[in-house]
Amino acid sequence: MSIKEIFSTMEYGPALESTKVCQQWLESLNQKFDHFIDGQWQTSSNKQYFNSVNPASMEVLAQVADGQSHDVNLAVEAASKAQKAWHEIGGHQRAKYLYAFARQIQKHSRLFAVLETLDNGKPIRESRDVDIPLVARHFYYHAGWAQLVDSELPNYQPLGVVGQIIPWNFPLLMLAWKVAPALAMGNTVVLKPAEATSATAVLFAQICQEIGLPKGVFNLVLGDGKAGQALVEHDKVAKIAFTGSTKVGQVIRQATAGSGKKLSLELGGKSAFMVFEDADLDSVVEGVVDAIWFNQGQVCCAGSRLLVQESISEKLIVKIKERMAKLVIGNPLDKSVDMGALINPQQISQIKKMVELGVSEGAQLHQADCKLPDNGCYYPPTLLTDVEPASIIAQQEVFGPVLVAMTFRTPAEAVQLANNSRYGLAASIWSENVNLALDIAPKIKAGVVQINCTNMFDAAAGFGGYKESGFGREGGKEGLYEYIQEGWQAKLAVKDAVKKKVKKSQPEDVNSIDRTAKLYIGGKQVRPDSGYSLPVYDASGCQIAEVPDGSRKDIRNAVEAANKAKGWTDTSAHNRAQVLYFIAENLTARSEEFIKRMSQLSGQSIAQSQKEFDLVIHRIFTSAAWADKYDGQIHSPPQRVVSLAMKEAIGNIAIVAPEEAGFLGFISTIMPAIAMGNRVVVVPSEQTALIALDFYQVLATSDLPGGVVNIITGDRNALTETLAKHYDIEAFWYWGTSHGSKLVEFEAAASMKRTWVNHGKQYDWFDNAQIESDLFYRKTVEIKNIWVPYGA
Ligand code: NDP
Repeated sequence: MSIKEIFSTMEYGPALESTKVCQQWLESLNQKFDHFIDGQWQTSSNKQYFNSVNPASMEVLAQVADGQSHDVNLAVEAASKAQKAWHEIGGHQRAKYLYAFARQIQKHSRLFAVLETLDNGKPIRESRDVDIPLVARHFYYHAGWAQLVDSELPNYQPLGVVGQIIPWNFPLLMLAWKVAPALAMGNTVVLKPAEATSATAVLFAQICQEIGLPKGVFNLVLGDGKAGQALVEHDKVAKIAFTGSTKVGQVIRQATAGSGKKLSLELGGKSAFMVFEDADLDSVVEGVVDAIWFNQGQVCCAGSRLLVQESISEKLIVKIKERMAKLVIGNPLDKSVDMGALINPQQISQIKKMVELGVSEGAQLHQADCKLPDNGCYYPPTLLTDVEPASIIAQQEVFGPVLVAMTFRTPAEAVQLANNSRYGLAASIWSENVNLALDIAPKIKAGVVQINCTNMFDAAAGFGGYKESGFGREGGKEGLYEYIQEGWQAKLAVKDAVKKKVKKSQPEDVNSIDRTAKLYIGGKQVRPDSGYSLPVYDASGCQIAEVPDGSRKDIRNAVEAANKAKGWTDTSAHNRAQVLYFIAENLTARSEEFIKRMSQLSGQSIAQSQKEFDLVIHRIFTSAAWADKYDGQIHSPPQRVVSLAMKEAIGNIAIVAPEEAGFLGFISTIMPAIAMGNRVVVVPSEQTALIALDFYQVLATSDLPGGVVNIITGDRNALTETLAKHYDIEAFWYWGTSHGSKLVEFEAAASMKRTWVNHGKQYDWFDNAQIESDLFYRKTVEIKNIWVPYGA
């Protein structure tokens, strides 16, 4: 187009970014990307390379080393060798390296941005103005945490070698999200980028050399899923941090089950974009553009489900269609395009299939009548209306520029629709009524909620999901805990299972305590569905009573009761604290009876049982104390916005209490959970089953609503398996054997439960430094960041 033509039509002319420096850089590497291991560039052990293609032109950008398990071994060995020294140089020295990364990224920001665009197809406007500045911000922010770690987190240790696996949608940004906190906390890293996008990771590795990062601290293994799998399975890797599809996340959860590896998973989403009738519709339309057409919709937290209040639906859809007609799709190097290329032809055919499916399900299809380039991976902005909430197109992640629209009538219906998803990554709420928006935000099951804004990211605000969007947070202080552990935890040893007492046959003692113990479900004593009972023995091995043998149906009823007790979660923290204090008071009133029973069952002296009982009361007081103090935070990201980091109860938590710790272990695990508003289904240890059932009388007289604590006695292994498979349990805490821990982690993969297991290691239940530590409270909550922009 000539300048004259541009003046007469007032059309946008092309504003192409130069690729000269980038091409020179690629040529300096002979268009070949190698692994970066122990500070050296290395070819693959099989000497093979595959092509990396620019999706905007389908030209080969470079050849990428095809990483094998041998290459992963070398990288992990190098990282392992380097880790101790990297930790020992201290936080301040590590802060200097992180600062150097931030500076280098800023100095070479345009090279990084152009390279990212060539490799991934995203508009240069986005890589230049969003991705790369956020990368630098992450290194600055975590340079700060490296500086502060020794004083602010003195009782914590790094984990060791961390394996990190990232996807192709934000290649360098995902690297930064993972590498910065890991290195800041004193770990060393082996990173596997997506096979489609290795370029900026290679440039980052060059920067490691330039700033003199010690060898082996950062290692890069290129390749496809099999390199990722080798990393996941490596014995010397202490933690896996993964971002990608829910399917692969589940495979990784199963592959790491029982290994003791720490795991964080950032997975898919189908985030709700909720528009209320009093919203500013012009802002909403720009919000929609940012929510679903940013990065061609290839964003895990993309606002892909538009939920509009019925009264304004028609008007808004017309406006969105008008805006769609004006979107410019084209060469991503052109600074005036709104949408660039998608990642590869496979992704496009996947999107096409999903859209066809949506139409076959009855949705109305609207695509912008825009011109797409002839060559390359392009797909038009797409809107599907008349979508049924239960249809596949409304439920499954498309990971492309496809928006599905539905309507609602009332705020309650909007919340119901928003939560009608197996995912829970993000949501945005559009309303000029801040009271309404702040009422809705806590009701949405998602890790990030944005009010009158969308796709907001900052290093200070943790990012991560609820439900099948994964677990763990990236960013913020909460993100640091993914890369450290309590010093005492590192020292725990695996202990043999508690030996069962020899059971003397003394039938005359059966039911010597004259009462029939029952299960405690929904605030009521109930008989077990099985109709069976199990014997309880005292310390000498004599049978002194029987407890119900709970089964699958009892678990089902207990979970239903827990679901019905959601009111407890909404009760004020002050009220929850009062109830816990009252439990302590009523338990104290029956101290003599409990102490006698504890002594009888454990064989310890009355004096020892008195000590344990005192600690039980201490634990309840501590949980009551934290109930109204374990608060969130307010972050001030660089944008004109506040981010409210709210701590929310997880929901239903299954607890299999420690076998070795008696009544103290039982109380120590359930109290933090209920103090923070969770409901629990708890399986007491065999030995304490009887006391646990005595305890329900205390609960029933202490104003604790029915269904908040449900107690099921019975075969621990069978109950563990049933609980681990239950879809309505959000978290599972397990203290038992290594085998049981593995079972819990493996079975939890399907529903993405948050698991906390002991891998057969024994905690010291008498040590307040362990059992009353922050760890026990961190596990009770999800952190949700609510973004609220401001400005008159
Ligand atoms: P994947 O989940 O398949 O891949 C993510 C990363 O994991 C890549 O580095 C991949 O390697 C690696 N990987 C693949 N299989 C394994 C394995 N068994 N063990 C360890 N690592 C493995 O996502 P894709 O990139 O293939 O995209 C597929 C779909 O995932 C998308 O259509 C989208 O729905 C979703 N997705 C979600 C993202 C999110 O942020 N939530 C991000 C990206 C994708 P490689 O790619 O090199 O084979």
